Amino acid sequence: MSTIPDYTPKSNEAEWHITYRCDLACPNCNRLCFLPPTTPDMTLDDAREFNRQARELNWFPKIVILGGEPTLHGNLFAFIEVANELSPGRVEVWSNGYRDAAKQQLARVREEGRAKVCEETIKADGCMVLPQADFFLAPKDFGVINHRPGHNHAAIGCGVSVDAGGYAICSIGGAIDSVLDLKLRTKQLKDLFDPEFAHRQTCSLCDVCGRELGITSHHIAKSQVMHGSLMSPTWQAAVKRIEQRKKEGDGS
Ligand code: SF4
Ligand code: SF4
Repeated sequence: MSTIPDYTPKSNEAEWHITYRCDLACPNCNRLCFLPPTTPDMTLDDAREFNRQARELNWFPKIVILGGEPTLHGNLFAFIEVANELSPGRVEVWSNGYRDAAKQQLARVREEGRAKVCEETIKADGCMVLPQADFFLAPKDFGVINHRPGHNHAAIGCGVSVDAGGYAICSIGGAIDSVLDLKLRTKQLKDLFDPEFAHRQTCSLCDVCGRELGITSHHIAKSQVMHGSLMSPTWQAAVKRIEQRKKEGDGS
C-alpha cells in the first residue's frame, strides 16, 4: 500500500491564467507579474481543451478567470462563455480593476451576469505590497527538504493552475514552473489526479517555493531584494536570466 500523502486536488476549482501580463507590478505578486511573461496568453482552444479533458474526468470545477490582469486579454468575454459551457453559473473573474478599460469590462461582466466579479482582488489604488513575502525563498537553497504544501495547494483550498503551458496542482504552480523553467506542468489533466504524479509535482514545486517557510535572519542573509521582493539564489538566477533574455530580445 502506498504511504505517500494524498496531494490530488480536492478544492473543485480551476484557475485559468489567461495572461500573465499585468498593468501593475506589485512586489511579492505570487504570479511574478512584475517580470515579462515567460508563458504566453491562453487561447480559447486551450480553454476548450481543458473543458474536454475535465469532462472526460467527469470533473466540473468552479472556474476562476485571472492573470496577470485578465482584462488585458482581448478575449475575456469569450473565455467567460467557454467557462460557462463546463461549469454554468460557477465562473468568477479576478481583476485588479485598476485601468479605466478594466473598470469598464468589469461593469459589463456585472451587468451581463455570466460571471461573478471578485471584489477582493480590486486594487483601486494601484500597486501594493502583498504581506506574504516568503514565496521566493526556495527551501532547497537553505537545505530544507520535504517542505509541505500549504495555503495555495488544490488539496488544501485553492484551485489547480491552468495556463498555456499546462496544468499544475498548486494555484501558483504554473507561474513558478514558468519562471524557473522546471518543466513540471503537464498537458494531461488526469495526471493531477494520479497520487504519485501529484506527490512528485507538489514536492518539486514546494522545494523551490517558500510559502509559509517564514523569514528568518538566516534566510535574509542568503537572499536579496529584487523587484521589491526578497529572493533566494534560485529565484535571483531565474530573474536575471529572464531579464537578460528580454534585454537581448529588445536589442538593447
Ligand atoms: S495586480 Fe495582481 S497580478 Fe498584477 S502584479 Fe499585482 S498582484 Fe500581480
Ligand atoms: S508550491 Fe508553494 S504555495 Fe504551492 S503548495 Fe507548495 S509551498 Fe504552497
